[in-house]
Amino acid sequence: MKTHSVSIKDLYSQFNIPPGKKVKLSNYDPDYTAGLTDRDSANEILEDNIKKLSELQKLLYAENKNALLVVLQGMDTSGKDGTISHVMHGVNPQGCQVTSFKAPSEEELDHDFLWRIHKNIPNKGNIGIFNRSHYEDVLVVRVKDLVPRSVWKARYEQINKFEEILSDNDVKILKFFLHISKEEQKKRLEARLNDPTKNWKFSLSDIKERELWDKYTKAYEEMLSRCSTEYAPWFVIPANHKWFRNFAVSQIIVEELGSLKMKFPKSSLDLSKIKIR
Ligand code: AMP
Ligand code: MG
Repeated sequence: MKTHSVSIKDLYSQFNIPPGKKVKLSNYDPDYTAGLTDRDSANEILEDNIKKLSELQKLLYAENKNALLVVLQGMDTSGKDGTISHVMHGVNPQGCQVTSFKAPSEEELDHDFLWRIHKNIPNKGNIGIFNRSHYEDVLVVRVKDLVPRSVWKARYEQINKFEEILSDNDVKILKFFLHISKEEQKKRLEARLNDPTKNWKFSLSDIKERELWDKYTKAYEEMLSRCSTEYAPWFVIPANHKWFRNFAVSQIIVEELGSLKMKFPKSSLDLSKIKIR
């Protein structure tokens, strides 16, 4: 099968979670590559998509009407950082902001859970990338019992309402769950232990989190089942193969930004009458 025969429609129907669908992650193969075996031609398309994304960003910025918010979630080592560097490296840093959400500070905890999120929503004309997000408040917070069940349970609906407000105000939201297998995580954690250039990434908490794999899986399933909407869709991206992950994410972003049908604004001046002396 040739790479070019993988249409965006195929990727959509396979990875987009239709609103209300009950998701079982065991039904999604993290090794899936849509029949592609050829990493090089997938990378060629990725490079092409990176150029398209750069052009689309210029339009986004010039129009100054919409913002794009890309949300990345996934287990430890699923490739959130790698996706950002490989897919987004062609965009102009001036119009793009990456926010990595860590455990909340005291000040953040003193507000509602969306406070720190809202502050980092991209301006009109800009791209915002969330490395982790408000979804941690129904993931780690749920798995580790950081708040009572009734509190995190109510958040799915609160998140949907919040995202609807953003969408109604021209924030285009795309959410990617990077889906890796437990076996693949083992390999990646071992690489962090064995490769001196990756040692710095290793943290003992990675081992503890790994023990909670099944609980996280359940939390991810509920998040995907309850928070994929028309206005802020979730995509489950097979992510055992980094090249396929980058290819798939870039295809979807380019397609979705393209669907905004953006145009360079026309000047309100009669430019033909202006002479530069
Ligand atoms: P890393 O992405 O490896 O830098 O790790 C960030 C850490 O922050 C992860 O262990 C997350 O689970 C944690 N984190 C992010 N958001 C929250 C949150 N809302 N509550 C608790 N922990 C969080
Ligand atoms: Mg980490």
